Amino acid sequence: MNWLSADPSDYQETDTDEAKILRDIAVPCRICESAFRRLRMTLRYCATCHHGFCEGEHGSFAGAGRARCLFCGPRP
Ligand SMILES: [Zn+2]
Ligand SMILES: [Zn+2]
Repeated sequence: MNWLSADPSDYQETDTDEAKILRDIAVPCRICESAFRRLRMTLRYCATCHHGFCEGEHGSFAGAGRARCLFCGPRP
């Protein structure tokens, strides 16, 4: 892993994962965090709830970079 920076802290309403990722700051996948109690950093975020999640594993990308996590989107 070799990101410019990373912020493993909890999700913050005042500074969402989306906002951090847009500043090139990796955040933890919130699905891994809540479901598996493991820390896995990501630079992908859900366009609906603004939480970070792992690309390909817990969500889908409906073209044009708009992503949805498992919590927000339909099951693949
Ligand atoms: Zn994950
Ligand atoms: Zn979501």
